[in-house]
Amino acid sequence: MKRTLLILGFLALALLACQAAALTPAQHASAASAATPTHAPVTEGNTTDEAPPPVLLFTIGIHIEPLGETAQGYKGGKGNYNAPGLLQKHANDMDLLASIVESHGGVMTIQTQSPFTTAAIANNNTILADLAARGHEIGLHFHEDAHLGKNPERLRGEEWCAIMQEEIGYIQQASGVERVRYWSGGNLYPDLFLAASCAGLDINSDWKNPKTQSTPLELVGVNPWRPSGGTDGEDLTAFTTHDPNGPVIFLPEGQYDQENFASMRRSQESGGDQAYFDYLAESLYASLEAAQPGMVNVFHFTVHPGEFRGDPARPFEVIDKFLTEVVDPLVAEGRVQWATYSQMADLYIQWEAQQTTP
Ligand SMILES: [Zn+2]
Ligand SMILES: [Zn+2]
Repeated sequence: MKRTLLILGFLALALLACQAAALTPAQHASAASAATPTHAPVTEGNTTDEAPPPVLLFTIGIHIEPLGETAQGYKGGKGNYNAPGLLQKHANDMDLLASIVESHGGVMTIQTQSPFTTAAIANNNTILADLAARGHEIGLHFHEDAHLGKNPERLRGEEWCAIMQEEIGYIQQASGVERVRYWSGGNLYPDLFLAASCAGLDINSDWKNPKTQSTPLELVGVNPWRPSGGTDGEDLTAFTTHDPNGPVIFLPEGQYDQENFASMRRSQESGGDQAYFDYLAESLYASLEAAQPGMVNVFHFTVHPGEFRGDPARPFEVIDKFLTEVVDPLVAEGRVQWATYSQMADLYIQWEAQQTTP
């Protein structure tokens, strides 16, 4: 037995040396330190990996949709935030969900837009300010057609930038947050990253094709990158190519294996809420498998106000149960760590700096 372990250990070191040859100097250094023996117990079938296991950064995002007439005068969606009833109802949902997440030690990234923001300002609703004060991130959810009209892709980047800035202004006013860095939306605009960067945004995720509600599997995974450009939804080359000088960090959603993971929650054929969270658990475990030591690894999913509410007597029980049974034990083991999107991006920026330091 001892001999087998020794041989396996040698094989592992040889393998690491081979891999190290193809790495940059900084990656080389981290691979070398990963090979340093520790006194960690050797478990069966896992004799080669003696470095601490990689950490997976995790959060839940909230999309607030543009229900009712937006600040730019476009109408869309079912329901209306300009009528105070729905605004208050969804504010209560978010408050409750945030309390559940907080009871698990978590933080979220809430993404909003007008008319929710403008209605919150008009009605002195402080939900966004309250959530920000409780440590959650407030970002922009940008439904391009609700703010730029039909066929927004025909517009110039400057026009996108100006309207994104206008929307960010309402978020700042409604939440008291000084800097908004993250946005989702605008997915079919090839100049999206330049326009968003012009508006002061530097973090993006949740790419799905709004026409098909699906996410090409080229965009799934656990390691962030800086896209060299946007996409029209057909050609993903620029999007999937890393440019170290790209202005935006893209946070993939994790190791999902189905293109419709973003929309399957709405499909009753997929088995309802519990089946969706079973799939999330499966994808979270797959993401842990895919996570790499010495890299920034991320996993997240999205909910909408009112979604997964379930039994009124035990609201959001399916989410609470997922956090209790799947996430909490991994957090306790140090395998999963809660982080807002900005915190994930900051760790990525830190990691980038380490790669260039000799
Ligand atoms: Zn959404
Ligand atoms: Zn949306």
